Amino acid sequence: MNKVKLTLLFVLVVVMAACKQKNSMSTENDKSIFPKGEKASADYFTGTAWVKNLVPDDTTYNTIISDVVFEPGARNNWHKHPSGQILIVTAGVGYYQEKEKSIQLLYKGDVIRIAPNVVHWHGASRDSEFTHIAINPNTENGVVEWMQPVSDEEYNSYK
Ligand code: MN
Repeated sequence: MNKVKLTLLFVLVVVMAACKQKNSMSTENDKSIFPKGEKASADYFTGTAWVKNLVPDDTTYNTIISDVVFEPGARNNWHKHPSGQILIVTAGVGYYQEKEKSIQLLYKGDVIRIAPNVVHWHGASRDSEFTHIAINPNTENGVVEWMQPVSDEEYNSYK
């Protein structure tokens, strides 16, 4: 092999290694920690989402903890929690909106505290799958009150 061919081969190997590393990094960032659970009910979700219960409700903790995976574009209906809710983002890029406020972008590592009875919705952004852990405390006061779906106009209001 002459010098030019060797140089080209070297460049090719370096580029392939860089691509492989980039792919594994983005895969790592988008990967959910837990396996997907049950498909979320179409009564309360637009698009496809999966809910895996991690901590079931009981009288010791009065807390439900779930892992929720949303496909791109998927979101839950407008709703509120009588005792509030905490969301911990573990993968992807998502949206969070409270009534009368603009949509917030959510990234892996973000922690959102939703005050009791604040009307809101959460879900994936248009182009990314999105995963969060949802913590519902003080379930003796109720867990969730579902309302109307988030319209496409509302969903697409994020610029
Ligand atoms: Mn909520």
